[in-house]
Amino acid sequence: MNNDHKIRQKILKLRKELSMYNYQYYILNQSKISDEEFDKKLKELYLLERDYPELFDTKSPTLTVGHQLSSYISTFHHKYRMYSLKKTYSKKEFLIWIQRIKKIIFYSCSLVCELKYDGVSINLIYKNGLLSHALTRGDGKQGENVIANVRTIKSIPLKLKGGNHPKYLEIRGEIFFEKKIFSEINANRIKHGLRPYYNQRNTASGTLQMKDTKVVASRHLSCIPYSVIGQNLPFNTQYKSFKYLKLWGFNVPKIIFCCNTNTIEEILHFIDYWNNKHHILPYYTDGIVIKINEYKNQYIIGSTNKYPKWAIAYKFNPNKLSETNLLNITFQVGRTGIITPIANVYPVKISGTIIKKVGLYNYRFIQNMKIHNGDSLLLEKGGGIIPKLKNININKRLIKTNPICFPKNCPSCQSLLIKKKDLYYCTNRINCPSKKQREIQHFVSEHGMNIKGIGKSMIKKLYKKGLLCEITDLYKLNEKKIIQINGVNQISAHKIINNINQSIYYSSLKRVLYSLGIPHVGEYISEKLTEHFSDINAIINANYNHLISITGIGDKIANSILNYFSIHKNKFLVKKIMEKGLYISSNNIKTTYLPLNGKSFVFTGKLSKMTRNQAKNVVEHLGGKVFNTINNKVNFLVIGKNFGQKVAKSIKKKNIEIINEDYFEKLIENKKKEQ
Ligand code: AMP
Ligand code: ZN
Repeated sequence: MNNDHKIRQKILKLRKELSMYNYQYYILNQSKISDEEFDKKLKELYLLERDYPELFDTKSPTLTVGHQLSSYISTFHHKYRMYSLKKTYSKKEFLIWIQRIKKIIFYSCSLVCELKYDGVSINLIYKNGLLSHALTRGDGKQGENVIANVRTIKSIPLKLKGGNHPKYLEIRGEIFFEKKIFSEINANRIKHGLRPYYNQRNTASGTLQMKDTKVVASRHLSCIPYSVIGQNLPFNTQYKSFKYLKLWGFNVPKIIFCCNTNTIEEILHFIDYWNNKHHILPYYTDGIVIKINEYKNQYIIGSTNKYPKWAIAYKFNPNKLSETNLLNITFQVGRTGIITPIANVYPVKISGTIIKKVGLYNYRFIQNMKIHNGDSLLLEKGGGIIPKLKNININKRLIKTNPICFPKNCPSCQSLLIKKKDLYYCTNRINCPSKKQREIQHFVSEHGMNIKGIGKSMIKKLYKKGLLCEITDLYKLNEKKIIQINGVNQISAHKIINNINQSIYYSSLKRVLYSLGIPHVGEYISEKLTEHFSDINAIINANYNHLISITGIGDKIANSILNYFSIHKNKFLVKKIMEKGLYISSNNIKTTYLPLNGKSFVFTGKLSKMTRNQAKNVVEHLGGKVFNTINNKVNFLVIGKNFGQKVAKSIKKKNIEIINEDYFEKLIENKKKEQ
């Protein structure tokens, strides 16, 4: 084979591979290789194409951004193209870029450094100040209109504030999940036996494509704008654009740094600082974007077919993999009987936390990974939260070892397991000890009945002593019984009983429904049910047609609810809970008088007499609302010990009354009397 032929083959191979990764990334929302590897391959292709121009092809991945669009969604042409960014991982390359800029613009010009937010780019089109389209980047020339979903994002104004904006305006920004929100979504999925989402960006992108805007709204996406495009803009630099974006109602980024081409050390310092510290930010970032500040200079420097030449993205060092040894694998039995394999590993520190356990999802994952006893595992902390097994260091595999086998019987009750799709389930419906304990754990959990002092290990101990075998046994507990548990004294036993009784007082129909652990009925569906039914009996007696007439409830959920209440044992449980005097009718029924209707609260600091959740529950019970942050609708800020910055924020708002915990308690007592 001659050399030319080899090069041609190499180019074709790289184009094919890169197109495939592009397809997986942009259409299937999966990333099979790291960004760094992708860029390495792209660069290799770019250099080959540069040296062999005769092999040039306009469809090469070096010239196209993303993948062509999926055909079934409505697409629109971008009036102004949406570009990618040129990327670098080295300071040397960055300095070469600066030198090139200096050669084009003879004088010193200013630069703006911003964070590179790791999310999905969006083109927000405002006509006469009103949001008219929200287009994804697509292939850079045309994108999909996802306006219905974008309208649910609180930080994107539907109408621009202030009058100082051109008639036609495009605002480009990044849509993403804040770290906290993403981990909440995943924690919720894990709780329901679902596999956590792997990648925040892909989840954000998938969420933007969803059909049900209510689900999108419930996921709380965020947006940060990073550029404004239009004619007759009232500013002429990138830096000043942020002042206007703020006036128009956007959440502008706080971390922006302006300097000039003569003070490059400051940029290098900025890069180093955020390279080390970006994990402290509330959102994911994967680099720094350095842009020429003046629009005039941007215009002079121009763009290639793929990216603007006046900007460059300096990417952070990618996550290094951490290597550790597999000690053994345990198989956990979930509330619904799902068996989840967990790798117990030799403790290893990854981005500041010690990792001892790594979830291995399901049977298929173990099979695909071909894990053997004693293997050396390569772990990564995905999105900085959940440790994941990325690979196995085969070179270190023991000579005499066996692949890990999935058990045939339930590790807790020895019943046979059955396989549905990729998941194995314990077939023992009635008395699998692990399942039982998990059910109780779910019932007492914070978002359920919120019974403090009865956690996983306490449930296990009580179960072993035969004192807590069913949820209903919770209400048969007394101090005498609890004191039998090792390490529990009179005071803590008293506290636990108190917590059980209090949880009844502070509960609601929504919480009870959620606590029951009906498959597919999480907090959202529980809330939907309370909006449509006056009390639990109405739900027990509801028919299929009534259930599926509720938004968010389809065939699967309706059948799950019907199935749950068709079992005598479950109805008996509800009866027992009701006998305990649990407040179990919906608090959304319009006919009952709700003394806190229209009143909103925010809490800051630690309350001494109740948890935040309990306080929230009481407020909601009386018809009020609780927000997490100060906004214009808030009427009361309740301050506890070590309160935070919310106080300072609320002082600026005239309509907020700042009250302490005692006053809050009095207010609640009075309102209860009114009810
Ligand atoms: P890439 O998607 O890797 O080609 O990188 C380009 C993308 O980075 C743009 O389309 C934007 O969505 C995104 N991006 C994130 N932060 C910024 C920023 N501060 N300025 C410009 N683009 C940004
Ligand atoms: Zn079992």
